Amino acid sequence: MTCIFCKIANGEISTELLYSDDKVAAFRDIRPQAPLHILVVPKAHVDSLWELDDPELAGALLHAVTVIARAEGLARGYRVIVNTGSDGGQEVPHLHLHLIGGTALGAMLPKH
Ligand code: 5GP
Ligand code: ZN
Repeated sequence: MTCIFCKIANGEISTELLYSDDKVAAFRDIRPQAPLHILVVPKAHVDSLWELDDPELAGALLHAVTVIARAEGLARGYRVIVNTGSDGGQEVPHLHLHLIGGTALGAMLPKH
């Protein structure tokens, strides 16, 4: 198994998990883009949102985001981003939801 997020989510690489249940794990992004930047991932490998065919897992991932956001006190708001595929700017080929917050975030997308 070479996938870095598989290793983190399943405890092969020691990383503090901010959330863990039978299907989902969450940990801090190594290069945070905001005061709070957490990655929420399935424990079983899925390449990207394009390959996600399990509505129960989709719900579990989104529900984990809500649980974490509440635990982190993000009542003022936050943003969830799922970069998908090459046009989507996905760098790590294991599905992950970015939970970003802790400050007032700017425009959603670059203008062009
Ligand atoms: P993507 O561009 O694929 O949506 O985002 C990948 C994210 O994973 C980036 O924000 C990057 O900083 C983060 N990342 C890459 N490698 C690691 C790692 O080994 N550990 C952690 N915690 N985050 C990582
Ligand atoms: Zn993986």
